[in-house]
Amino acid sequence: MGKIISIFNQKGGVGKTTTTINLSAGLGKLGKKVLLIDIDPQGNSTSGLGVEKNDGYPIIYDVLANKVDLKDAIRETSAEGVSIIGSNNELAGLEIELAREGNWEKILISKLENVKDKYDYIFIDCPPSLGILSVIGLVASDSVIIPIQCEYYALEGVSQLFETIKLVKKGLNPNLEIEGVVLSMFDGRTNLSIQVVDEVKSFFKGKVYVSLIPRNVRLAEAPSYGLSIMDYDSKSKGAEAYMELAEEFLELVEE
Ligand code: ADP
Ligand code: MG
Repeated sequence: MGKIISIFNQKGGVGKTTTTINLSAGLGKLGKKVLLIDIDPQGNSTSGLGVEKNDGYPIIYDVLANKVDLKDAIRETSAEGVSIIGSNNELAGLEIELAREGNWEKILISKLENVKDKYDYIFIDCPPSLGILSVIGLVASDSVIIPIQCEYYALEGVSQLFETIKLVKKGLNPNLEIEGVVLSMFDGRTNLSIQVVDEVKSFFKGKVYVSLIPRNVRLAEAPSYGLSIMDYDSKSKGAEAYMELAEEFLELVEE
């Protein structure tokens, strides 16, 4: 039975999409079958894995709006073992439609039931907000991975993020857990990065992955080629770090 994991942090630019793409690709390289669901209207994980997001092929909007079956929106990506349900701007309008109709919380989880056992892991790349789309993702998930950028206000907003997770747990999904915290854009030459690591570790106790994701230009370049970091530059520091993270993730999750 596949485990469903949201990559979640309402802050933008902290490495959610980069982590979703490259953790998925790393697991694919390790022989796992992964489905990535892009629920960010920006569609960055869609294009970042070489999938055209405006070619008329069904996207997550069509699934959530009951226009197509979820399985008919799945397609292959440039990464071995990784399939995707893409996203684009059209999804932005859905929040308003859903808010008007009500009863939207379980719309994704109900549709995932039939495909859940076809994958080892299903990752949901959340938008940078605490709105309806993120909640739909959290309600559908078994757990959450929280990427945190090694920057000055690293923990800013974390209490809000917890509040949202708590609300979802209380009402809609009591089993939702924190899978782990990924520290991204780490720069070992700066005291700030080292301080942030300590701060985040003491805040999240045992939940922080040992694998640190360094700031690495190759990671920022790869999406414009539609490739995961492993396929773009397998010898880069970024590729090494995300392969390590994939291995660590597997060890912990399969324990
Ligand atoms: P989010 O999905 O949380 O908004 P992204 O993963 O899109 O964040 O990352 C924001 C920007 O930073 C992107 O341009 C991405 O390519 C870049 N980036 C992410 N992680 C790294 C990293 N470890 N090193 C260098 N650039 C990174
Ligand atoms: Mg993103």
